[in-house]
Amino acid sequence: MIASRHSVQRRLVAYVSLTMLILVAFAVALTYHMSYQHEMTDAVTLERDLVRTVQAQAEVAVFAANEKIARGVIEGLRTNPNIKGVVLTSLNPKEFTQSGGHVSNVEGEDESSRTAYALMSPVDGLEKIGVLTVMRNDPLIQAQASMGALKQSAIFLGQIALTAVLIMFFSQHLIGKPLANLADTLAAIKPGSGKRVYVAPADALNEIGSLAQSANALLDATEAALAEVEARATTDVLTGLPNRRGFMTRLQDEFARIKRYEIGMASVLMCDLDHFKQINDQYGHARGDAVLQSFGTVVSSEMRKVDMAGRIGGEEFAIILTGTDASSAFHFAERLRQKSAETTVVHEGATLRFTVSIGVTRLLPSDQRAEDALARADHSLYLAKQNGRNRVEMAETAPPQQSS
Ligand code: GH3
Ligand code: MG
Ligand code: MG
Repeated sequence: MIASRHSVQRRLVAYVSLTMLILVAFAVALTYHMSYQHEMTDAVTLERDLVRTVQAQAEVAVFAANEKIARGVIEGLRTNPNIKGVVLTSLNPKEFTQSGGHVSNVEGEDESSRTAYALMSPVDGLEKIGVLTVMRNDPLIQAQASMGALKQSAIFLGQIALTAVLIMFFSQHLIGKPLANLADTLAAIKPGSGKRVYVAPADALNEIGSLAQSANALLDATEAALAEVEARATTDVLTGLPNRRGFMTRLQDEFARIKRYEIGMASVLMCDLDHFKQINDQYGHARGDAVLQSFGTVVSSEMRKVDMAGRIGGEEFAIILTGTDASSAFHFAERLRQKSAETTVVHEGATLRFTVSIGVTRLLPSDQRAEDALARADHSLYLAKQNGRNRVEMAETAPPQQSS
C-alpha cells in the first residue's frame, strides 16, 4: 500500500516535469525567436530614425557640395556603434571634386547589409540629388539581439520553473499529504477498535473528505459484520444461549473481576440433564432438542439479568451467578432443579419430563484459573450423579489441591 503511494507521487513528479520540459523547450524556442526578431527590428528602426534626423543636413551637404557638412553628417551617424559605415554620394559627379563624387567613412569592406536613402533637392524636394548609404554592423546587432533574446528566455524559464515548483508544492500540500495521512490513519485503524478516520474541516467537503467518509462507512460495515460473526460464533443456535466459547469469555471476565476486587463474589453451576440419552432413544432426537430448549427457557426465566448461562456441551449447561455466595447459589440450583422436574415438554404429540443434576461452587479469588472453579463444579455434578441424579451438590470452598 505504501509502495503504491510513493509510486503515485513519483509519477506525478515525472508527468509534471516531462510536460514542463516540453512546454519550456517550446516556449523558450518561441521566446528566443520572437525576442531576436524584435531586437533586429528595433535596430533597423533606430537606424531609420537617425537617418531621418540628419537627412536635411545631408541634402544640404550634397546640394551645396559642402564636404565639411557631409563629414559632420557622417560622423554624427557613426556615433551609433550599429552603423559600421556611411557613404554620401552626389549624383552630380562634379560635386565633391576632391573625393570623386562621394564622401565616406567605412570600417572595412565586407558583406554588411546596406540601405540606400535617397537625398532630394532642398529647393523643390522633387529632384533626386544624391544617396546616403548606411552599412549596418550586422554581427554586433545580431550579438545584441541574441543577448536580449537570451535574457528574455532566462526570465521566462525562471517563471516556468517557479510555476512548476509552486504546482509541486501545492499539489503535495493539498493532495499528496492529506492522501498520505488518510492512508496512514486508515492503515493504523483495526476494525473493531471503534476508531474512525478524522477529516480536517478544510477537507470535509472535498474528495479527500468523501474518501475518508467512504473509508469510515466501510469500517462501520466491517465492524457490524464482525460483530455479527462474533455473535454467531459465541451463540448456541438451538437454545439461543451463549455457547461454550461465549460462556468461557464471560467466566474469564468474571474471574478477572473477582481477582481484582477481593471482596467480589460469584458462583458457578454445572448442570447436566439426567439420562438424556434415554430421552433421545425413547422419543427421538427432535424431541430431545425440544427438551434442551425447554431447559434453556427454564434457566433464562429463573436467573437474573446480571447472571449468565451457556450451553457448554450436548446436554450440559453452566451458569454464573454474580455477587452470589455458595449458599444462595445452592438455593438457586435447588429451585432450578425443582422447576425443571415440574416442567412438561409437549412436542409433536408427546409429553416429556426431564430432571437435571447440578454441581455448585464459588468462584474463588484464590483460584489460579477460572477453569479451576469449573472443574470443582464438575466434580460436584459428578457427585450429584453418583448420589442418584435429580440432585444438587455443592463443593466446599477449599478446593482439593489436585484439582488445579
Ligand atoms: P447422565 O444422566 O449420566 O448424564 O446420562 P446421559 O444419558 O444424559 O449422558 P450421556 O453422556 O450418556 O448422553 C448424553 C446424550 O446427549 C448423548 C447425545 O446423543 C445427546 N445429545 C448431545 N447433544 C445433543 C443435541 O444437541 N440434541 C439431542 N437431541 N441430543 C443430544
Ligand atoms: Mg453429559
Ligand atoms: Mg446427561
